[in-house]
Amino acid sequence: LKNLLNDPSLLCSQAYVAGEWVDADSGATFEVKNPARGDVLTTLPDLGIDEVKRAIDAAQGAQKDWAARTGKDRAAILRKWYDLMVENADDLGRILTAEMGKPFAEGRGEILYGASFIEWFGEEAKRNYGETIPGHQPDKRITVIKQPVGVVASITPWNFPNAMIARKVAPALAVGCTFVARPAKETPLSALAMALLAERAGVPSGVFSVVTNSRAPIIGKEFCDNPIVRKLTFTGSTEVGRILMEQAAGQIMKTSMELGGNAPFIVFDDADLDKAVEGAMISKYRNNGQTCVCANRIYVQAGVYDAFAEKLAAAVADMNVGDGLDDGVSVGPLISEDAVEKVEEHIKDATDKGAKIVAGGKRHALGGTFFEPTILTGVTSDMMVTNDETFGPVAPLFKFDTEEEVVAAANDTIFGLASYFYSNDLSRVHRVQEALEYGMVGVNTGLISTELAPFGGVKQSGIGREGSRHGTEDYLEMKYICTSI
Ligand code: ADP
Repeated sequence: LKNLLNDPSLLCSQAYVAGEWVDADSGATFEVKNPARGDVLTTLPDLGIDEVKRAIDAAQGAQKDWAARTGKDRAAILRKWYDLMVENADDLGRILTAEMGKPFAEGRGEILYGASFIEWFGEEAKRNYGETIPGHQPDKRITVIKQPVGVVASITPWNFPNAMIARKVAPALAVGCTFVARPAKETPLSALAMALLAERAGVPSGVFSVVTNSRAPIIGKEFCDNPIVRKLTFTGSTEVGRILMEQAAGQIMKTSMELGGNAPFIVFDDADLDKAVEGAMISKYRNNGQTCVCANRIYVQAGVYDAFAEKLAAAVADMNVGDGLDDGVSVGPLISEDAVEKVEEHIKDATDKGAKIVAGGKRHALGGTFFEPTILTGVTSDMMVTNDETFGPVAPLFKFDTEEEVVAAANDTIFGLASYFYSNDLSRVHRVQEALEYGMVGVNTGLISTELAPFGGVKQSGIGREGSRHGTEDYLEMKYICTSI
């Protein structure tokens, strides 16, 4: 991998704690592997609690000075960081693809997407507005100011090794918090490369640490129990989010939770079918189905069901599975053998109960964790995929008759992250977008993520929003000041 990089120093082999590049006190290490080839990319320090405590202490030590700077000053540093990420997008994209598996075009795209949050929140650093409220008595003046919560800790998954951290660290740093990130053990290299560029951009020592570690639960516990940490921000499964919220209850810690989804993707009879197929391809197969906003259940109205299935199968036939670092590849490997087994289990359960495979359906001839993009027809609500996120390249097509029926089915889940529907009937569009119990709705589009909009879920999909002018709120406390004159 080093040979592919213009700047090989971006491939880090140490953790970044309190402004220093370090090994584990114990000397322990763990391996980072390339899921496409199975080869070891590098070994990294497997940090323990002591090093994590040092990162947290340094974050506390640096926080007051960082917060005391002007927003404009912090914005200038974030801008520099953004520029460095864009300048190095090719290298960062290659590192990301090597550790995670997504095609290079998507890996590079993620770098620019992640960077866009650093740009956006840097700009927002200058707009941390408070409020004045007319007093309740003649001598009283009411002011509301917003202050950083303090030291923030993050735990993030492997599916977006850069962007999941960028969406959290950017608003936190913008408003004057300091930050300790624990990246997923599968994909820590992108996080370390971000830290290196942050250092080069002038982010002061201790403001942003990256603690590499292979045993997440011990780090999660320390983040929740350490009284210096004032906020935990997490992206991952609802199960782990629940554990972390329980642990965070000990010190009534503020939490942001971006958790699992079970996105419905609805195609009505009156939709533009070609547009719907294009949206389904992006929403379903992007990142090989491994995103929390991927279409998990595709509902197609009876009148267009067969035509939609046929067009989707034609589009899937054009996909090119392979190593993400090779040219022309549109689908990489799945992240792990466990992920492949889950996909196989969902397909077997569906076919046992009567679904038909019209594309793919099995491991790819390339071996490893490569899997064929799959389409299932005749899918019904008694199948596993109805309630459980597949997190893989399987498009299950459910048939429905009425709008009322499909809205009820779409909402019949504990999750409420992303949803999508296609229709050209104006009245229906308004009815359905309001009826869907989701934090996000894509209408006639399968791609909704942008730093300009508030990303987040309702129900058991989470708490808080990332992106948009609302994205800083999760890292701010309100202070009400009552003054008698
Ligand atoms: P995913 O399926 O995306 O890996 P998980 O919720 O299992 O979702 O993992 C998300 C992140 O949380 C990963 O970095 C993982 O290592 C970490 N994690 C898993 N279990 C725990 C835990 N008990 N405490 C803290 N972090 C955890």
